[in-house]
Amino acid sequence: MPSEFGQGGKTPGTFRVLVVDDSPAIRRHVVQKLEPMGFHLTEASSGEEALALTLEHTFDLVVSDIEMGAITGVQLCRVFRGDPGMADVAFVLLTAAKEAKTRFWGRNAGADVYLAKEDMEEKLLPVVEELMKGRTPRDSVRPELTGTPLERVSAVLDHHLFDVVVQSEVRRLMDHVHDRIEFADKVLELAAEVIGCPYLVFHLLGPGGPTYAIRARGPWPEGNATAGLAALAIPEKSLDSTHTTVDPDSKFGAGQNVVGGRSCTCEIRVRDETLGTLQIFAGSTAVAESDIRSAKLVADALGVVVKSLFLMEETQLLALTDGLTGLYNRRHASTRLEEEIARARRNNTGLCVAMCDVDHFKAINDEFGHSAGDRVLQQIADSLTEYVRRNDVVSRWGGEEFLVIFSEIKLTAARIVAERLRGRLASTPQVEDGPEHISVSIGLAMLRQGVTADALIEQADQALYRAKARGRNRVEVAGEERRSKPSTIIEKQGGGKREPVDAKQADTK
Ligand code: GH3
Ligand code: MG
Ligand code: MG
Repeated sequence: MPSEFGQGGKTPGTFRVLVVDDSPAIRRHVVQKLEPMGFHLTEASSGEEALALTLEHTFDLVVSDIEMGAITGVQLCRVFRGDPGMADVAFVLLTAAKEAKTRFWGRNAGADVYLAKEDMEEKLLPVVEELMKGRTPRDSVRPELTGTPLERVSAVLDHHLFDVVVQSEVRRLMDHVHDRIEFADKVLELAAEVIGCPYLVFHLLGPGGPTYAIRARGPWPEGNATAGLAALAIPEKSLDSTHTTVDPDSKFGAGQNVVGGRSCTCEIRVRDETLGTLQIFAGSTAVAESDIRSAKLVADALGVVVKSLFLMEETQLLALTDGLTGLYNRRHASTRLEEEIARARRNNTGLCVAMCDVDHFKAINDEFGHSAGDRVLQQIADSLTEYVRRNDVVSRWGGEEFLVIFSEIKLTAARIVAERLRGRLASTPQVEDGPEHISVSIGLAMLRQGVTADALIEQADQALYRAKARGRNRVEVAGEERRSKPSTIIEKQGGGKREPVDAKQADTK
């Protein structure tokens, strides 16, 4: 009979089944039901007795009552699940309780099947048959187990409590998802409390990333951070949102040991999406099993929290950017302008703004259609972003108007940059089914003493107005109204003869 549950037709021996119930009548009843299946059946009248039996025998299946004396069926099941030598033993919990809470607790104990006693008559056999399908009897030599039943229950419950507390602490990190750097710090602060490894690395992807946060308890092994970081495939800077992501080839599976057991990488995921990793690095020794377990626990619990951080970042980004071009919107550009002005005053550096407006844009819309017009705007946005330095701010100020904030720049340099920008925009290849040439006019204004952000924008607007009046496709500088000639050579519209020079290479200091 037992062979029908085994694999490949080979006689697998006999399954050993432990039946636990404080009622001799019910125990008898269960045993009688299971006897025809050819199992080797053992009875226990309490959780304590059941645990004592596990010190001497191995079992393939436990059928246990939930409500018993000191050690309940739920606790018994948790001890099995928490013990590496018994974690995969099939477990059926039986209860007479109708109470929803008892059912909930039973279901969450980790049993394979939770069965009401009133259904036992009809369902026990099919349930057990299904459960044992494909299994082979376990080795009858019991792996090393020590401790009294109560000590073992207490150890498992303690472990479980630890897990629950860590999970709840990780969830509390939700309070910090408004700021990824603060969040990363808090994650590592918590991780350092529960993981003994001296080096912890938290790698975040997502809208605000990629970001690496590193926490080291002491100097790197041999005083050399480079080797440690290289071993973990991490750029040398500890906290930097500008680094590109880790080479996919150097990605390690969850919990897998790399670098000869000195480190372990746990992926942070929700469903199929990888959101980052938590890496632990032991330096010159092997990573302890308990640290791997804690790191996995933290990484698993971090999934939903990190996802919330990403959603928050996405929302923030949407509020700051313009849907068509992806550039910062006017509101955010205004805020940034105030900040940049304050910084320029503090550091005594120069600041210029360039208001750029597409020439005859209405005609482009009229002739080629609104969607071609949209594509022209997107292309201008891309060119602007590509052209300026990383610290400069490019924004869509209005319909076909773009504001660029150049920081740490003098007027002479800004003038050159603006002129090159104009030349570049007039010479970039144009969009499909759109105009052959476009051009922009630019009004440039330099921050002077006592000038507010609004006044500075007004000056740039006035200069732009003059550029339009003086023929378009040109740069005019605020405060130079009386110059009748343009300050720089005007190329023919669309004349792409001169190589556009990258502003990043211009001397802008
Ligand atoms: P000027 O050289 O004097 O700047 O002339 P212009 O035609 O560019 O200026 P005007 O202000 O008369 O027209 C701007 C046009 O830009 C009108 C408006 O319909 C169009 N526009 C504004 N926003 C968008 C947009 O998002 N997409 C498209 N396709 N057109 C837009
Ligand atoms: Mg225009
Ligand atoms: Mg306009």
